[in-house]
Amino acid sequence: MSKEFYGFEKLSLVDLNDFLCASLFTGGCNFRCPYCHNSALVIDYKRYPYFDFDEILDYLKLRKKMLDAVVISGGEPTLMEGLKEKLKQIKEIGYFIKFDTNGSNLKLLRELVEEKLIDYVAMDIKNSKERYNETIGVESFDFNKIQETIDYLKSDVIDYEFRTTLIKEFHDEENIKKMGKLVKGAKKLYLQKFVDHGTCIKGGFHEISLEEANKYKDILSEYVDNVYLRGY
Ligand code: SF4
Repeated sequence: MSKEFYGFEKLSLVDLNDFLCASLFTGGCNFRCPYCHNSALVIDYKRYPYFDFDEILDYLKLRKKMLDAVVISGGEPTLMEGLKEKLKQIKEIGYFIKFDTNGSNLKLLRELVEEKLIDYVAMDIKNSKERYNETIGVESFDFNKIQETIDYLKSDVIDYEFRTTLIKEFHDEENIKKMGKLVKGAKKLYLQKFVDHGTCIKGGFHEISLEEANKYKDILSEYVDNVYLRGY
């Protein structure tokens, strides 16, 4: 897995308190969600040039007054070699760190939280348990790892959000309801619109309409305090 960041967005507005952020993307992922729009980062990242971390740090130091936060995304960031050391160096500059994860590595996530290396977690909830492995494209994955991470975040050890990208081929009212039971008692869940930019791991997936997304929002509101649509 990657030792370096393979993506670097110097300035973006993230849906998190309207923070101005810099976003760093790790290479490699243990999932193969067929609708993943980051196929280059997941599968082919070694073919691309990486960003020198010292130069990233120089930029972050220079822009400290302008930027509010740094987003660590991927790929799956918990797979990155030397991740903790890099987070420490970003924290030393004084940044708030938002950390994106697919929730498959609770052990490392817990360490990052306990060592105060991250401030906010955004975890993907891909689907109901019954359709999880199909949705992530890995038949052998042990779903219990996801449930453990869900339960850990629900215990309010850190501010967090759950988020689900809605895909017509994977989601319907029945499994959205089952998914609601998985995250029951959570604070925040974002339902994200799928957009096909032609960069997915596999083609042929479709967005859920606004009308249907609102139905899912109503279903999930029975289980989660705040459910929002994102990108609609
Ligand atoms: S959507 Fe996320 S978890 Fe799924 S393959 Fe892409 S980077 Fe990995």
